[in-house]
Amino acid sequence: MTEELFREDATALECEASVVSVDERGIVLDRTVFYPLGGGQAGDAGTLRLADGREIEIVDTRKDKERPGLILHVPASGSETTALQPGQPVLARVAAARRKAHMRFHTATHLLCALVSHPVDGCSITAGYARLDFHMTEPLDKDELTAGIARLVREAHPVRHRWISEAELDANPQLVRSMSVQPPRGLGRIRVLEIEGVDLQPCGGTHVANTAEVGAVVVTKIEKKSAMTRRVVLGFAEPAAR
Ligand SMILES: [Zn+2]
Repeated sequence: MTEELFREDATALECEASVVSVDERGIVLDRTVFYPLGGGQAGDAGTLRLADGREIEIVDTRKDKERPGLILHVPASGSETTALQPGQPVLARVAAARRKAHMRFHTATHLLCALVSHPVDGCSITAGYARLDFHMTEPLDKDELTAGIARLVREAHPVRHRWISEAELDANPQLVRSMSVQPPRGLGRIRVLEIEGVDLQPCGGTHVANTAEVGAVVVTKIEKKSAMTRRVVLGFAEPAAR
């Protein structure tokens, strides 16, 4: 298992780690701060710095589907990784601006869930935009949702995660808002994300610590994606992070 440091502390952007394995799909470390694509949230990018100062650029992070529990750090094409050996120490460093954008947008999607009381049937969170698909037929109002998000940001609600048992989740099925993503089973515990007084649901992603840190997020578009789906697209009011 790769130790998933990002689950406990989303603000940690750097860690020392050891190489476990290297193949054409990516580099596995014994522990990492890199979030792998999942739950709609994009994978992290960043660098792995070797003891001699060389850096390997990481362009994406994925769960290893063939080896559950392991996380693949995907190097930029043409990277020199053949010299990497199991056991070798590296300094893993997440690209901060991109991750911060993911954290702000991801937290904003929870605020949106609190404002729209319909099941979610799709979600995508990137550094440039986020979108959430709601299973519903009624129209949604762009300005009303933007104002609702702004209010929850202004109210500065604390955001925190905790772990509950699978039995606790089974006793509270209303916690699961998403039709498309079910929380991972079989680990004995489920991570839930609580925005105090606003939203509570299973989530493994990275979030800011207070809704105030979401900042100026606005609804840029509402689309009728299908007869039963309304898509809400979020953007930053300031120029996008690079
Ligand atoms: Zn979340």
